[in-house]
Amino acid sequence: MPEFDNRVLVEQKLYESPLPHYNPEVFKTENGSLYLKEPGVAVVSIPYVDFSGVQKFLDGFPPELEFFKYLQDPTPLPPAESLCKFAGQLCYLRFGEKRTHNKDAVKYFQNILEQSHGSVLEHANISILMWGVSRSLTHELIRHRAGFGFSQVSQRYVEKLRFVERPEYAEDPLLHEMFEENIEYVESRYNKISKYLFELQSSGYGILSAERKTDLYKKVRQTARSVLPNETEAPILVTGNTRAWRHFLNMRCNEHAEIEIRRAAFQTYRCLIEVAPILFADFQVEHASDGTHVLKTNYPKV
Ligand SMILES: Cc1cc2nc3c(=O)[nH]c(=O)nc-3n(C[C@H](O)[C@H](O)[C@H](O)COP(=O)(O)OP(=O)(O)OC[C@H]3O[C@@H](n4cnc5c(N)ncnc54)[C@H](O)[C@@H]3O)c2cc1C
Repeated sequence: MPEFDNRVLVEQKLYESPLPHYNPEVFKTENGSLYLKEPGVAVVSIPYVDFSGVQKFLDGFPPELEFFKYLQDPTPLPPAESLCKFAGQLCYLRFGEKRTHNKDAVKYFQNILEQSHGSVLEHANISILMWGVSRSLTHELIRHRAGFGFSQVSQRYVEKLRFVERPEYAEDPLLHEMFEENIEYVESRYNKISKYLFELQSSGYGILSAERKTDLYKKVRQTARSVLPNETEAPILVTGNTRAWRHFLNMRCNEHAEIEIRRAAFQTYRCLIEVAPILFADFQVEHASDGTHVLKTNYPKV
């Protein structure tokens, strides 16, 4: 993993297209079982901001307040920052010349963090696809409730299994060999059970009580999945507002978090800092003793 310094991004990259993503390699065992060794992360959606309707609102105030000039600020901001700053300035009706201008947005959001005025960060939603993550990781991830939405691959419909190798296994030849053996065994067992269930059903022995064919596929897979291990891949689309993402990074990219979710959290951070550099600027990257990264901030709960 290359060295990473978020201050460089804050200064140089306000926003870049295409949206950031990190695509890990997919590996294959001798018998064709597929697996990944690292999380894949792709930003799918960021806020779209259009203030043209706001101009009418600003124009309705007395001209001497100069609210009508608010949208003429010459410094562009990324959409998430632009939206959250507008939300914060609406709270105090600060749209005139005395407001904090966009060029001082870093200072503006620093103050938001210091005042714990985190609710303004709830306006900007960012959707991220994660793959190459295990079912045990997503079980931890979906414990985060406030500000998050999740859509995860259902094991009742999955056509082709993929697996995730833990970092500890990837680094040790014997553990790696055992991992490959295990996923090949699990996949063949899963396919064998599925086939047998189909045969039972087709021969008229209605063990699954399925009336339609699509219903049958679902019922076969929901039964056969009982043999799947924690290391089965579980791709998940996560939409979170920037306040929720900050909390996630605090909880999951620290030294107490489990190593797999910590790596995914760090990749997520690398994407978030590209699309909303100022909202995540306070996080400092440190090295953990196991070679991964951890994030530290003075504002863990805004
Ligand atoms: C290192 C680590 C170890 C863990 N070990 C375990 C474990 O052994 N067993 C286990 O079950 N879980 C464990 N967890 C999960 C943990 O208990 C939380 O469920 C998870 O981290 C989500 O955190 P949260 O509730 O703060 O987050 P979110 O659900 O994202 O909520 C964000 C914040 O909103 C507020 N909030 C959300 N919902 C409510 C509510 N209903 N009422 C009041 N305030 C609310 C809280 O301030 C909360 O911190 C662990 C987590 C970590 C990071």
